[in-house]
Amino acid sequence: DVRVRFCPSPTGLPHVGLVRTALFNWAQARHTGGTFVFRIEDTDAARDSEQSFEQIIDGLGWLGLDWDEGVLKGGPDGPYRQSQRGEIYRDVIERLTASGHLYESYMTGEEIEARNRAEGRPVQQGYGNWERDPEERAQHALEGRQPALRLRVPDEDLSFDDLIRGPITFAAGSFPDFVVVRPGGHPLYTLVNPVDDALMRITDVLRGEDLLPSTPRQIALYHALIDIGVAQWVPRFGHMPLVLGDGTKKLSKRDPESNLFLHRERGFIPEGLLNYLALLGWSIGPDRDVFSQAELAEAFDIRNVNPNPARFDLKKAESINGDHIRRLEPGDLASRMVPYLQVHDVLPAEPTAEQLALLRELTPLVQERMQLLGQAPELLASFFTTADRLDFDEAAVAALPKNAEEVLAAAEVSLAAAGEWSVESVRAALEGALIEELGLKPRVAFGPVRVATSGRRISPPLFESLAILGRDETLARVRKLRT
Ligand code: GLU
Repeated sequence: DVRVRFCPSPTGLPHVGLVRTALFNWAQARHTGGTFVFRIEDTDAARDSEQSFEQIIDGLGWLGLDWDEGVLKGGPDGPYRQSQRGEIYRDVIERLTASGHLYESYMTGEEIEARNRAEGRPVQQGYGNWERDPEERAQHALEGRQPALRLRVPDEDLSFDDLIRGPITFAAGSFPDFVVVRPGGHPLYTLVNPVDDALMRITDVLRGEDLLPSTPRQIALYHALIDIGVAQWVPRFGHMPLVLGDGTKKLSKRDPESNLFLHRERGFIPEGLLNYLALLGWSIGPDRDVFSQAELAEAFDIRNVNPNPARFDLKKAESINGDHIRRLEPGDLASRMVPYLQVHDVLPAEPTAEQLALLRELTPLVQERMQLLGQAPELLASFFTTADRLDFDEAAVAALPKNAEEVLAAAEVSLAAAGEWSVESVRAALEGALIEELGLKPRVAFGPVRVATSGRRISPPLFESLAILGRDETLARVRKLRT
């Protein structure tokens, strides 16, 4: 049975790399019918925050990435926050020490450096495993120093078959015995992460490429954990490709493009953002970019993730989001636009039934042309106001052609005389007056009418918009721009 996990440290805002890791773990669990475990690695009191924890929960909930065991949900291997697992770690550390896998190490960084110099070893070789010898330790212990604990690394090659990268070998001796518990007893990531993965019976560790350097150390630790009966196996590892921002730089947590909530504020819908994030290293097939979360779960296989760095392309993300917006039921899209319209005071906190019905009627007019829900206020504001309060984009007014007055006068007369008000009668009136009689090209002809009625150079389709505005309101707006 496949068991995967997502185990973020709650520092800072949820970012794109974090979400992609959660998504691929989720997809692997759902594809295999396995279990998705969600644990919080909050052992660094100085950097972790409750606010960041809440934000991660908020983000996963918004995206619809549900987990089977873990934080807020419980399960057989809890607690699922490392800050509450101190006793478990103390017990494992004791057993690892008693069995000789960990030993006490007192040397400071400076002492290690000095010793390397004295012995003519290159300083970058770091620790020389000297305190494996109990006599080396005894003196420092007498001085009353607090020891760190190091793992005694077996003198053998460490190999594993990365699910994404294929076979990887770290030759014997490529790293020295390393610290897993700080002086004073605080256990480090290299220890608690594998201990929890072992106790939670994780089969597949799928995480970012940036963690690859810790993998051989963790495998060495697994061997010790297996020896004392805490672990039953070494899990499989899959290291997902880096996400690049502009150029060849790694997308940094601080880049705005990395900020999950900024994407939400701008109007990504979860379907669109998840789809795009899945493309950061994976593809559902040639010539196909758009798919649902269910289709992702159906087709995903971590073995098909591409090891090469993936570039975060905001334009492409927005275009895919537009595809997902077009797939929504219009009623659903209308409700999703409401909060964005409220933020910009296009709709009040408590919209009336009439306003909601109007929004529903307008939805098909904008559904085809939106890539982000955040475009809704700009496209729709003019429908929720009246001629006397319509807000004109000054640049659009300034850019009106010289004959705008003539065009608007002709439009006013023809619209006033149009038959029963409808998309068709509006079209017939405007085409008759402006294209046939004045002999204008459509782009020149309708521009002034668009600016007059929407206040903008870009708006939903004109005839449909005027049909919804109604004759009186349309005429009032045309007159207002003329005066
Ligand atoms: N807490 C670690 C991090 O956020 C987890 C790394 C891992 O997946 O092993 O980087």
